[in-house]
Amino acid sequence: MKPFPRAEISRCALQSNLAQLRLIAPNSKVMAVVKANGYGHGLLNVAESVGKYNGGADGFGLARLEEALQLRDGGVKGKLLLLEGFFRQSDLPILVTHNIDTVVHHESQLQMLETVSLDQPVTVWIKIDTGMHRLGFSLAQFDDVYQRLQACPQVAKPIHFMTHFACADEPDNQLTQLQIDAFERKIKSLEGDCTLANSAGTLFWPSSQADWIRPGIALYGVSPLAGDKGSNHKLVPAMELVSNLIAVREHKAGDSVGYGAFWTAKKDTRLGVVAIGYGDGYPRNAPEGTPVWINGRRVPIVGRVSMDMLTVDLGADAQDNVGDNVQLWGKALAVEEVAEYIGTIAYELVTKLTPRVLVELLD
Ligand SMILES: *Cc1c(COP(=O)(O)O)cnc(C)c1O
Repeated sequence: MKPFPRAEISRCALQSNLAQLRLIAPNSKVMAVVKANGYGHGLLNVAESVGKYNGGADGFGLARLEEALQLRDGGVKGKLLLLEGFFRQSDLPILVTHNIDTVVHHESQLQMLETVSLDQPVTVWIKIDTGMHRLGFSLAQFDDVYQRLQACPQVAKPIHFMTHFACADEPDNQLTQLQIDAFERKIKSLEGDCTLANSAGTLFWPSSQADWIRPGIALYGVSPLAGDKGSNHKLVPAMELVSNLIAVREHKAGDSVGYGAFWTAKKDTRLGVVAIGYGDGYPRNAPEGTPVWINGRRVPIVGRVSMDMLTVDLGADAQDNVGDNVQLWGKALAVEEVAEYIGTIAYELVTKLTPRVLVELLD
């Protein structure tokens, strides 16, 4: 028998989401964002499913050099971009050896580029801060930065350009259009590729799609918009988090359950104990009423989530048995909705699973 809990990853869903994103952004290349272990789906699982050799992604976006090296070790050939750039001067020769592009967003990186000696120039993407105010050069700094990188023999030409949105998941927030306009004014006449759009930009701000889109969460079948679901955009959830029932118990009215005796039954019922807890990455702060899916219906979590288990109220007439499958999120129960109950975002739920959860790639 397969171990529980498991995160079952659907190759079909990943491929279908990529195809859907191509329909939504027909003139853009796709840089699939696979940082943080492919948003918890398994870095190589995702790369393999949407890799170039399947007619898939044109490149991959990563947050750390180690992630990019794992992809190269796994045989991935396409373009790789470090979205936060390199951190140390000693990273630069490694970028050259493994043909990895880097974002440049800070003066310290300029200085490292200007003083390093490399066998070959490195491909860079200048990050322009158009309103996110986290990383990137200001519009005022840009011309000077561009001149310095143009003059730098360690930098491959042409130079490319990127920015990142603060509020693209709010379709009514005008900041995004201001960011798009500011970016376009700056790079209008320059050679080189441009990328602005994360998933929300791709879905809700088509004028931001440019040369490359950088979808992360949408690739996994999840909507970045609060109150929305991937299925509204013909995206299919790529992860099903499953476990099983390890106990079914008669439970009397007035009896409490679990640590802190946190919940007390108002009437006689049956409780199910599910083998998953915060030690697997299922959040401890999931409140009473957070749904899980068992035998074709939703049942509510009751009592505190513990390290290895959680308890659900199956109802007095429940027919469920030990060994029955439980879905924590997936096709039957959207992770977006579970995240709303828990007061977080789907991004956090999928990326926070611990190594105890088997991540298994299925067709
Ligand atoms: C993570 C990230 C993305 C992907 O964002 P999603 O909202 O998951 O689509 C795109 N660009 C940058 C710079 C990122 O850091």
